Amino acid sequence: MRPETLAIRTQTPRTQHREHATPLYLTSSFVFDSAEQARALFAEEIAGPVYSRYSNPTTDEFVEKLRLLEGAEDGIATASGMSAVYTALASIVQSGDHIVAGRAVFGSTHQLFTRLFPKWGVSHTYVDGDDPARWAAAIQPNTKVIFVETPSNPGLDLVDLKALGALARSSGIAFVVDNCFATPIITQPITFGANLVVHSATKFIDGQGRVLGGAIVGDAALVAEARFLARHSGPALAPFNAWVLSKSLETLALRVEKHCANALLLATALEEEPAVQRVRYPFLASHPQSALARRQMRWGGGVLTIDVGSYDTARRFLDALTLCSHSPNLGDTRTIVTHPTSTTHSKLTDGERAQVGITPGLVRISVGLEHPDDLLDDLLQALGSGR
Ligand SMILES: *Cc1c(COP(=O)(O)O)cnc(C)c1O
Repeated sequence: MRPETLAIRTQTPRTQHREHATPLYLTSSFVFDSAEQARALFAEEIAGPVYSRYSNPTTDEFVEKLRLLEGAEDGIATASGMSAVYTALASIVQSGDHIVAGRAVFGSTHQLFTRLFPKWGVSHTYVDGDDPARWAAAIQPNTKVIFVETPSNPGLDLVDLKALGALARSSGIAFVVDNCFATPIITQPITFGANLVVHSATKFIDGQGRVLGGAIVGDAALVAEARFLARHSGPALAPFNAWVLSKSLETLALRVEKHCANALLLATALEEEPAVQRVRYPFLASHPQSALARRQMRWGGGVLTIDVGSYDTARRFLDALTLCSHSPNLGDTRTIVTHPTSTTHSKLTDGERAQVGITPGLVRISVGLEHPDDLLDDLLQALGSGR
């Protein structure tokens, strides 16, 4: 079946009440029918919920839907996107190992690489751009993982998933993709050779700015390692959040298509706007990787960036908005603008920001589902150039 159907019709078996929609299993543990069943469940001879840190029907339903959408063998849910990134990577590497990653990674992922993993003797090399030769050159004998985000946050840089998938396979290392920006509706990294896909479900998957959540899906053997780490370190997704996220997946395809249509419309209009120095959006012809974008993305995504010239101009623009929200989230029904230099990427040095294209005038716009004309009216009046 197709993604729209899978996201709606994948469902935990009904209870004796014959409910149409899935109930919320808000319980921390489950009762054993017999001493023998308890033994067999703990020995993993039979499957079934035991304790919500490692299994819960509501959480399992969410994971099962996402697994099918990504075309993965197996998966687990986590409490947040960062616990997914951390659990996925930490379950693969050990002391002495090395990670190769695109330089443009999410702020907290950068903190993991630069401040936390080094404590356990895990090093990394950042690669700029998408030239496969540079990626190949970064691989060392102790490299265990290639990690990428595409499109990246907030630079909207792409990496060639097919080329990196082939490189990882030929080097015998794991290829892990943070698919938060594209979602499986736009790109299925596993079809390009990814071994694990991690998600911040907080973003487009929830899509309505209500809950935090995350997931890891991919090759069964790698997911088994991640499951072991999660079971014993405890970043479990709360069943209530899983219930919200499973419900949200039912409308993911519909929402993502509309986010992308609105974003392309705004990106195209803003490109004509003299107060905007530069617009970046994967499906604009002006994006340096627009050909690659069209090869590996179904649509351009729900996020674009504009450069309004300076921090001062950005500040005036943010304070003049009356409809768009100034907030650090993305992927919401509500359009959200963020100024990476002063907020999400403020922990980076000026030099580090420059390397990933974060200029002081850069504003990230996560385009929501409001009417695009209302959005454009607000953006243009805040730019001081109403229609
Ligand atoms: C937000 C985000 C994360 C972290 O997700 P949380 O749910 O906030 O922990 C990881 N990767 C990317 C690309 C993100 O945008």
